[in-house]
Amino acid sequence: MTQLKPGVVTGEDYKTLVATAKAGGYALPAVNVTGTNTLNAVLEAAAVAKSDIIVQLSNGGAQFYAGQGMPDGFQAKVLGAVAAAQHAHLLAEQYGICVVMHTDHANKKLIPWVEAMLTEGEKFYEKTGKPLFSSHMLDLSEETIDFNLSECARILERMSKMGMSLEIELGVTGGEEDGVGSDIDESADNSKLYTQPEDVLQAYDKLTPIGHFSVAASFGNVHGVYKPGNVKLRPEILRNSQALVEERHGTGHNPLNLVFHGGSGSEKEKITEAVGYGVFKMNIDTDTQFAFSQPVGSFVEANSRAFKYQIDPDDGTPYKKLYDPRKYLRAAETGIVTRLQEACEDLGSKGKSIAG
Ligand SMILES: [Zn+2]
Repeated sequence: MTQLKPGVVTGEDYKTLVATAKAGGYALPAVNVTGTNTLNAVLEAAAVAKSDIIVQLSNGGAQFYAGQGMPDGFQAKVLGAVAAAQHAHLLAEQYGICVVMHTDHANKKLIPWVEAMLTEGEKFYEKTGKPLFSSHMLDLSEETIDFNLSECARILERMSKMGMSLEIELGVTGGEEDGVGSDIDESADNSKLYTQPEDVLQAYDKLTPIGHFSVAASFGNVHGVYKPGNVKLRPEILRNSQALVEERHGTGHNPLNLVFHGGSGSEKEKITEAVGYGVFKMNIDTDTQFAFSQPVGSFVEANSRAFKYQIDPDDGTPYKKLYDPRKYLRAAETGIVTRLQEACEDLGSKGKSIAG
């Protein structure tokens, strides 16, 4: 049985982790984090579920990690991501599971963000022999396919020297995430919401010789959670892309590494079907945001006087034990731990950690 050292996995170990998940018929949750509370909660959740896990930061999440008050916002996006990755390199091993460090959507405007993180990653690589991140995402799905793939090829060239992997996007995931994308327009023609297998084949042809990559394909998935019926998930689109590459190149089953964006609020059967078509990563952001915030709301509601007075003006009760931020932040962390048990169950990753 394949076993990897616990902690952040990169390079050949990352490829092994992805291949093992696909061969084992399960996928890993990819959870957006914005600070040490959410990051630690995700590590704890993975340890409890005995599942390996993907931690990712959006550009806004990285900025928040560095501190919303940091004067240079661009630097904050770069250094916040670096800080989160270093946090994980230091602590993840202690949780006894494998952790993938990744960054989320970077559109054309954010290419310099990815390049600046690579500059930091190269310094880290020089010192440690390991990349800082396992992978980054470049989402140029709003550009022409030629621009999308040539930029992805250029960046992957640089990344593969350190054994890093690139996630690309083909077809547009609906909804908006952290300023990237747009709010879902229910009346719009949604053919763009479905990735074309020919585009996937083109990406495979161009990127396979350069390095390891994965594809966020659109099959009706959207970011955010909307009322039921608005979204028609068509996982068979993923199967068609796999079949086309398999047939053209005579590869084995499910040659592509596929990523499911907008996993929040999805039905279990559609998730299982998508995983069967080679999805190894499902992004969950909206659901874990709610899981983090909901217990805080309940805690404040149940202890409302402790959030108005340090000492109760009526009976002199001291409230220090209740307004200590660790109280409600711990409740928030526990919310994420609980929600992710369900995600690991849905994705089949529960109990499947290959850390040994
Ligand atoms: Zn996404």
